[in-house]
Amino acid sequence: MRKLTTNEIRKMWLDFFKEKKHHFLEPVSLIPVEDPSLLWINSGVATLKPYFDGRKTPPSPRLTNSQKAIRTNDIENVGVTARHHTMFEMLGNFSIGDYFKKEAISFAWELLTSDKWFAIPTEKLYITVFDEDIEAYEYWINDIGIKQDHIFRLTRDTNFWDVGQGPCGPNTEIFFDRGEKWDKENIGPKLLAEDIENDRYIEIWNIVFSQFNNDGFNNYSELPRKNIDTGAGLERIASIFQDTPTNFETDIFWPTIKQIESICDSKFKYSIENYFDEKIEQTKINTAFKVIADHVRATSFAIADGVFPGNKDRGYIIRRLIRRALMKGMELGINGPFLSTLVINVINAMKDFYPYLLEKQNLIESTILNEEEKFLKTLSKGYEALNKMIENDKKVTGKNALLLFESFGYPIEQTIEIAEDKNVKVDIEEFNYLLEQAKEQARNARKDLKAWDKQNEIFTKIDVDSEFTGWEETKHENAKIVYIFTDDEILSEAADTEVYVILDKTPFYAEKGGQAADTGYLVNNSARAEVIDTQQGPNHQHIHKIQLEGSIKIGDTIDAFVNETKRTLTMKNHSGTHLIHAALREILGETVMQSGSYNDEYGLRMDFTYNDSIKPEELLAAEKLVVEKINEKISRNVYFCSMQDAISKYGALAFFTEKYDDIVRVVKFGEFSSELCGGTHVDNTHDIEDFMITGLESKGSGVYRVKCLTSKQSINEYLNTEFNKLLKLIQEIFAKYENTKSILADQKIEDIIKDAFNKEISKQSIISLKLILEDLSIAIKVYERKVEELLTTQKLEKFKSFEPKINENGTQIIEEKVNGLNIKDMKTLVDEYKNKFEKVIIILTSENTDGNFVVVGVSEKLQLEHSAIEIFKNLPISPKGGGNASLAQGKF
Ligand code: ATP
Ligand code: MG
Repeated sequence: MRKLTTNEIRKMWLDFFKEKKHHFLEPVSLIPVEDPSLLWINSGVATLKPYFDGRKTPPSPRLTNSQKAIRTNDIENVGVTARHHTMFEMLGNFSIGDYFKKEAISFAWELLTSDKWFAIPTEKLYITVFDEDIEAYEYWINDIGIKQDHIFRLTRDTNFWDVGQGPCGPNTEIFFDRGEKWDKENIGPKLLAEDIENDRYIEIWNIVFSQFNNDGFNNYSELPRKNIDTGAGLERIASIFQDTPTNFETDIFWPTIKQIESICDSKFKYSIENYFDEKIEQTKINTAFKVIADHVRATSFAIADGVFPGNKDRGYIIRRLIRRALMKGMELGINGPFLSTLVINVINAMKDFYPYLLEKQNLIESTILNEEEKFLKTLSKGYEALNKMIENDKKVTGKNALLLFESFGYPIEQTIEIAEDKNVKVDIEEFNYLLEQAKEQARNARKDLKAWDKQNEIFTKIDVDSEFTGWEETKHENAKIVYIFTDDEILSEAADTEVYVILDKTPFYAEKGGQAADTGYLVNNSARAEVIDTQQGPNHQHIHKIQLEGSIKIGDTIDAFVNETKRTLTMKNHSGTHLIHAALREILGETVMQSGSYNDEYGLRMDFTYNDSIKPEELLAAEKLVVEKINEKISRNVYFCSMQDAISKYGALAFFTEKYDDIVRVVKFGEFSSELCGGTHVDNTHDIEDFMITGLESKGSGVYRVKCLTSKQSINEYLNTEFNKLLKLIQEIFAKYENTKSILADQKIEDIIKDAFNKEISKQSIISLKLILEDLSIAIKVYERKVEELLTTQKLEKFKSFEPKINENGTQIIEEKVNGLNIKDMKTLVDEYKNKFEKVIIILTSENTDGNFVVVGVSEKLQLEHSAIEIFKNLPISPKGGGNASLAQGKF
């Protein structure tokens, strides 16, 4: 075999196709142009879409290129497989409505085998085609002269290119046999025939015949203009011509790897032999070298194309690559920035074809160095912290992963990778939950900031007092307007606009302590204003955001009306929160601690900590207890007192880390519940009317969220929708039964259904409907299996009465078509005939839309003279498959 450098290979490819009248297209940027569907150019053809779909006219119907591509979904493969890179080059030739299968195949063969070009010995090459593509198969056999044992007809899975909608078609792939050295168990061509992952037969070239249009529903019509689209990975071809175990020992990566060796701790060396030795420790070391060499190349190219490290999209990918490479460097004992010093190797290896890299050398190096320094500053601390966590805890909690992420800039992927290396698990679920929470907090902070930041100055100037009267009332007449302002200025009057106002006395509750803000109206003779929101000012004033119609000025009096419906429902929910909190503490124990809540007109949710699992019956007991307390009609009492008294005298729960004022407010429902709370509550538990738990979620790390409803109306509405939803699901499952009932009736299913439809809407029936749904799902599965079995038996029945014929050798033989049967059914049938006749050969064929099958059986007493697999092999339909003397099966 010829030894060729990567540059020679690329040049030869392009020269060949130029000679065959192909127009050469320069490589284009990795950043897709006018294609929002792609983050990166990921193949040669991705740059040619407009030519293929007819939006643009190509400079020539024959095109060739060598295109850089990035596949982020392969990043995890890098260094693990022998031939995946983040960035790689794809050689291609394309025909846009010009030549088709015959020429595409003969071009490929000429380039690969001709002495003038790659000169690969023909016996080294193997071909696969789509088994229905007779045309391609025949070109290979008749025109090219491929030997039968060098071509395999494979399935749609391996040899049909289809993305579900649009142009698609069969392909043919060309493989190079690197010999037994790369096939330890000496399995040979079976590796290809059965599509087994291997390093012996390397795919050089994939030629797609874009022949059909898929209408999106797998109906295929012939395309009026057929295209050729091919792709060949340059790095993989290089590893063939340089006979290296993986792509990484080729001339593209080798200088980089050698340089890493010179920088890193001298005890680490890249070992080529390890490909065969497979020593675990050394494999890890090799992987580190490979990842670094790969990532620095991808990063250099991306930066040269104008991508810079950042926090999203392409920028984030580049940042991740740089950070990941740095971490791998640490595994090799490199502790400072070093990636930027490798860039020159990338440039030297690639500059022949990408001369612009030289001009960008400074930019690439300084961008990488900058990012390295930034990361290293925080990283070393984080790495230490992570290693401690791993050593001490033997796990990484979500909280710790978030700490690493937020404080040390550790991408979660990195944390997982390092932890997995040490066989330690990261609580990703908890991490995601906490991250979401942190984001929400940041969002809220931003929201506040947006609303209030400009006012900060205005805020500090607010010296008016404002008293909240809303604990006892929902309207306050003749409140005085004491302050009017916007985001930018303090006003003395306002008209027909959105402004903030403060009243000397207000019944409007400002959002806090988990209770939603009040909304409502302010009205007087000259103005009517809708209160959209009420928030707390820095000095506890209640600030109303209003949409004003008419005019107001400082000193005016105005009547304030809270939206009572909303407030009443919210109050029921807030009191409900106190009761469920107390109930859960009673049922589950005092370790239950509320850690947050939200009450509005629609319902309540409460987060609480509890370090165990919660059983459904415990939840039901808590619900029942709350309902009991509602029925006990307990009055609500409120006490203003010192913190000390609140705890000792009134038994208030106080475990918030919040800061309390000197005087606190205690809300107490008899002996059952006593909490520090500034919210508005019902007078008597009876006002809550009813209570229901609608859901419990675990938030990870011992935090739960319980969701509940109060008031008869809310619960009824919920029950109605839920009940109907469940009935609908039950009905849908039942419909499956109805369809096949004529084949097999099932009393059990009918009983379950009757039971479901006899239910009346209630809390209890929701629970039992859920159980019924579960029962029914199981019953219907069993039922469907039974129907299937019955249908199979019926289907087989009509094929059970074949009589053997005697052939010229005097052997009994049954050779019949059994269309409609699958291989499994056919085998069952063969067994039955073997039982029925002592000496018989059975050959069954079945033609179906999803494939044609053949099964051959030979009864035991005949197996000395006849073998099923031999008969199978000699069938004129030349089936593919396998078997033994007794039974053989396959497709044709
Ligand atoms: P694989 O199964 O190896 O990932 P693929 O089926 O994804 O390959 P194609 O989409 O057919 O590959 O791309 C055509 C050629 O591009 C492949 O035959 C291979 O030579 C090359 N190639 C694809 N992905 C990579 C990669 N991540 N690194 C290097 N070369 C690649
Ligand atoms: Mg792939």
